[in-house]
Amino acid sequence: MFDLMFVLVPILAVCIFVFVICMMFVPGLRSKFMGHQLKMQKRMLEDNKETIQDIGKITGEIGVKTAKGVLDENEDDIRHVVGKTADISKDAITTTTRAIKKGLTEDDGVYCKHCGESIDSDSTFCKACGKKQ
Ligand SMILES: [Zn+2]
Repeated sequence: MFDLMFVLVPILAVCIFVFVICMMFVPGLRSKFMGHQLKMQKRMLEDNKETIQDIGKITGEIGVKTAKGVLDENEDDIRHVVGKTADISKDAITTTTRAIKKGLTEDDGVYCKHCGESIDSDSTFCKACGKKQ
């Protein structure tokens, strides 16, 4: 029994070593092995299709129930946060709208056709680039 171990263990070690080396350096063999693994996975999935679907269904139900529970338990806080966010957005929109209105109504100045510099409405030449308007 003891002698047999001395023979079997090194043989097993050599087999594993050869297998690993083959997997690393022989692409055809690796692809064959991977293909075999994929076929096994496919068969496993096919054989357990119903169980996997059940797990998916249960996981989905737990997720929905958890989300519902979280929403129910924190409804007041969530309403508060959403309301506050809406208020802040409203303020920001009001400020932006006012700024745009102000810009549109107040800024009716005249600009140079060539360089874009602000010029007097009655000037014939641009004071920045000197070109005729
Ligand atoms: Zn100009």
